[in-house]
Amino acid sequence: MSYVSYLECSRTQTEYPAGELYNLSPDHEAPLLVRYRLDAIRKVVHPEDFSRRSQSMWRYLEVLPVSSGNEIVTLGEGYTPLLKIAKLGSSYDLENLFIKDEGVNPTGSFKDRGLSAAVTMSMVLGADKLCIPTAGNAGGSLAAYAARAGLDAFVFMPQDTPSSNQMEAQLFGAQVSKVDGLISDAARLMGERQEKNGWFDVSTLKEPYRIEGKKTMGYELAEQLGWSVPDVILYPTGGGTGLIGMCKAFEEMEQLGWIGSKRPRMVAVQASGCAPIVKAFAKGSRDSEFWQGANTFAAGIRVPKALGDFLILRDLRKSNGTAVAVSDDQIWKALKEVASEEGFFMCPEGAACWAALKILREKGWVREKEKIILFNTASGYKYLDHLPRGC
Ligand SMILES: *Cc1c(COP(=O)(O)O)cnc(C)c1O
Repeated sequence: MSYVSYLECSRTQTEYPAGELYNLSPDHEAPLLVRYRLDAIRKVVHPEDFSRRSQSMWRYLEVLPVSSGNEIVTLGEGYTPLLKIAKLGSSYDLENLFIKDEGVNPTGSFKDRGLSAAVTMSMVLGADKLCIPTAGNAGGSLAAYAARAGLDAFVFMPQDTPSSNQMEAQLFGAQVSKVDGLISDAARLMGERQEKNGWFDVSTLKEPYRIEGKKTMGYELAEQLGWSVPDVILYPTGGGTGLIGMCKAFEEMEQLGWIGSKRPRMVAVQASGCAPIVKAFAKGSRDSEFWQGANTFAAGIRVPKALGDFLILRDLRKSNGTAVAVSDDQIWKALKEVASEEGFFMCPEGAACWAALKILREKGWVREKEKIILFNTASGYKYLDHLPRGC
């Protein structure tokens, strides 16, 4: 038996039974969030239990949607290192700067967390043909987990997606369709074919379980920091699943008695060529507007409109956080700086976080002793043919 109690509509709080296959909430077409019997979990699991468990995100089994460990479709995702960035940190008077390195996941990005959970639950609930529109990494990741599970995968991606993403999805046996346009155009084309083919849509936040996989980043951070939370988290934001997921994890952990009421200030980082969340945050809006002509080499955050924009904006404001846009030029400079100073090859999306932190440091928004986490959401090595030329 899993500890899931029900699925909740994120707009209306209407409850739906777990154990059935859902996309968006039937009443409001909004993302569904998984709710657990936290009181029951609190009695049977304690923070000190984790040191004996598997070194993957599935170590937090009770707060994940499966009934038994045997159902899990895994390639060893999660439980990624938290690296101290001492030298570069001290040159900007930041004493406690860390990178959470998601580049070591099985397909080289943190999409593996979400898709391990989503493919597992698709399998459990009886979907056998899975489809996804992707800015790149999610398609490769779905293809890998679907291969592992013996399910069919249908991936729709922009034709200028990094070639590593196109190649990996094909290698893993997915049927890949390339689209002249953005992830939003890929989603439209997929939508035209989906119903007649009986595919189940595992887009970000369009099914309830990818966020459950991504929330384990919040559990891991707390565990790695001795069951406490950092002061600031910078997160390269596309669909926002990880940001919303981590905030959900912090709330769950407080109810479980594993952490206190302190919360990190969450920072959504976007590219100035595609910054719908930054714009909406600055205007004080509840939702974002579709960003016309989205353009950045940080492919994973080239998302003109996020389905969960209202959840991202709510979490930024609730945490006293902010949203920052950085140019491709600033991203590329930041990437080279971290590589040459620390021997660490960030992906462009991760490097955007370092570029944003420098802006926030200049403004005095972060202080010297604060514990700050930069999310490196993928390995820089996935972008070899996608980076600007010359150094
Ligand atoms: C998908 C992706 C992001 C954005 O993640 P969301 O949770 O959808 O906001 C950031 N970086 C990389 C490398 C990605 O693949």
